[in-house]
Amino acid sequence: MQEANFPRLLIPVVERQPDRLAVIGAYDGGYRATYAEHLDRVLRLKAAFGRELSLAKDDRFAVLAGNSHRYLELWHAALFGAGVINPLNPRLAAAELEFILRDSRTRVIFADSEHAPVAERLRSTTGIEKVVLLDDGDLPHDMRYEDLLSAHAPAAADEPDEDDVVVLMYTGGTTGTPKGVLLQQRAQVSTIYHMDFMYRYFSHDDVCLLNTPMFHVAGCLGTMGTPAAGNVALIQRSFDPASTIAAVEEHEVTLLGLVPTMLSMLLTHPDFTPEKFRTVRGVAYGGSPMPEALIRRVLEVFPGAELFQVYGMTEMAAVLTCLRTADHRGERARSAGRALPGVRVEVRDPESGRPVPRGGVGEVVARSGSAMLGYWERPEETGRAFRDGWYRTGDMGYLDDDGYLFLTDRLKDMIISGGENVYSTEVENVLASHPAVQQVAVIGVPSEAWGEAVHAVVVVRDGHEVTEEELIGHARERLAGYKVPKSVELRTEPLPMSAALKVLKRELREEYRAREKSTRK
Ligand code: ATP
Ligand code: MG
Repeated sequence: MQEANFPRLLIPVVERQPDRLAVIGAYDGGYRATYAEHLDRVLRLKAAFGRELSLAKDDRFAVLAGNSHRYLELWHAALFGAGVINPLNPRLAAAELEFILRDSRTRVIFADSEHAPVAERLRSTTGIEKVVLLDDGDLPHDMRYEDLLSAHAPAAADEPDEDDVVVLMYTGGTTGTPKGVLLQQRAQVSTIYHMDFMYRYFSHDDVCLLNTPMFHVAGCLGTMGTPAAGNVALIQRSFDPASTIAAVEEHEVTLLGLVPTMLSMLLTHPDFTPEKFRTVRGVAYGGSPMPEALIRRVLEVFPGAELFQVYGMTEMAAVLTCLRTADHRGERARSAGRALPGVRVEVRDPESGRPVPRGGVGEVVARSGSAMLGYWERPEETGRAFRDGWYRTGDMGYLDDDGYLFLTDRLKDMIISGGENVYSTEVENVLASHPAVQQVAVIGVPSEAWGEAVHAVVVVRDGHEVTEEELIGHARERLAGYKVPKSVELRTEPLPMSAALKVLKRELREEYRAREKSTRK
């Protein structure tokens, strides 16, 4: 079957509007390309992949760079069947990058000047044979990106198969070693349809700001959906409140995709005025629910815009549920919304796999055309990830009577204390409401009396003082007894975080275990 592939979406757009603007790069004096120019560059790149880099459609290539039009072209080359893109998070430690490059047996890496030195260093410990420099920086490299493009006539835009794998994307590594997720053409096409359902992409002339990282599943949505719908992709290297505000005003941006922290940074920046954002008609955010005060502020300053919260994961590329503007009220504002069309979400008992009655908490499972093929070379983990065709998200939650999903915790972070389930996020929210608490993580630690005991690790806010007893008292006033932490550890240094800025609870549990062991000796 060939129907569900990216070229089938993009080529008709190019034929219909060859001279319309497709890409704007808001950096280094600017970059502009029409649809015809963009496609020409993608097909030249595809030709160079085969001839210059000896990459076939199943071979992986890595990208280690900030956002740019060239990064977008690399995404599209993969979607046109030139190779399998493995976009890397530049915040990863060298050892993590090394793990991924060896695991994926990558031979070619594209890097910008900022990251080329890291790519060079990784050459000796991985299978990297060629470093392609994306920009015109003065650094060691094997080839320059623009030289590759100018040396080749465009390749034919033949149609890839919908079963072809096009993306190898590693998960965030929050709960363990990152796993390589394999995504096929048809999953990417499903994703574009999901985006259209949310944004009504195909029926507007949108200017979409792409400033979330293109290495992440959240950033890759816009790299595919925006051009497939004939819209303008406005690219920024990374997020920075001042330049985002300037770009929104100058280019009359209509769609934004951000995480809650970015939104809060924008709205509190001195340059921000609602007037500069008057063209914005949609704001999507995800990764976590948004604090109520921030929701109110967003609705106030973007009175005409739609607000979308999205929930998903790399394995389901990327969105399962969406909470719309009208639902950002009361109790529902804490929900992750309802399943998108073409997606089914259910709640099951994590042990038996049996459905849980409506309203009961269990593991969130899902089916969707955007599901991964599996994990790269990890058949057992792939087997565990699916049960009867349903993907096990590893997230706990419940559905209300109208099908709204409420997330409670990750299965791996849930604590079972004295036979009762304690959701770490609920306890964290209560502790975070204390003025002296800057950051908090709640974990389960071994306990002879309770099986597991609730333990909180708290980073104290600068200039504040607080005791363990005071925080336990604060929790006791607001939570059922079995949820109240048995112990609180106070610290001043930040908690260990993943490159995607999620707290690494497995490290906190490890630290606790090591400490207990040494005190027992
Ligand atoms: P790993 O699987 O390697 O441990 P990860 O799960 O953090 O890492 P991602 O695929 O980037 O890697 O993140 C997906 C997870 O992020 C989801 O399973 C969920 O726990 C969390 N998440 C995503 N969106 C939301 C949301 N809207 N609200 C709450 N949590 C969310
Ligand atoms: Mg995960």
